[in-house]
Amino acid sequence: GGWREADVNQVLRDVMAFLRYEAQKRSVTVIEDLDFRLPFIAADGNRVKQVFINLIMNALQAMEEGGKLFLRTLPAEGARVMVQVADTGPGIPAATLERLFTPFFTTKGPEEGTGLGLFVTRKIMEGVGGTIAVESAVGEGTTFTLTFPVAE
Ligand code: ADP
Ligand code: MG
Repeated sequence: GGWREADVNQVLRDVMAFLRYEAQKRSVTVIEDLDFRLPFIAADGNRVKQVFINLIMNALQAMEEGGKLFLRTLPAEGARVMVQVADTGPGIPAATLERLFTPFFTTKGPEEGTGLGLFVTRKIMEGVGGTIAVESAVGEGTTFTLTFPVAE
């Protein structure tokens, strides 16, 4: 997409086209619930792509032994578009949740994680006037909820 506006459904499809194999090799089932009547969002598609890649790779890396990845798009209050990335991975303890967006916070080995993914993701969301929130339950999974302003 261009720098002005982006179609969240199309960006998700582009991302899944090259992450599909990462899901398959972990036996992760991808469940998409996309609203194709959504308006475009006011954001650079390449930045949005980076956000989706970061969240989806984290979800997949959290499900090494299979699970479900849910991708959802829907309209939200106040002329916004909501995107949710949810997984049935191990979840994140409450004490860890607070540190999630801190630069260099990682629970992964040096080969897999730099701990910058969520830091960068939050910066991008702030830059586009968006929001990011996380909910997690240990033993159940994790949900990241994004909102973006719609394009004019
Ligand atoms: P990295 O992926 O390089 O470790 P991130 O900033 O992307 O860095 O994520 C930081 C940490 O947050 C991860 O190391 C992991 O512990 C935790 N995390 C992020 N997403 C998830 C998720 N979907 N399920 C479980 N833990 C997660
Ligand atoms: Mg990451």
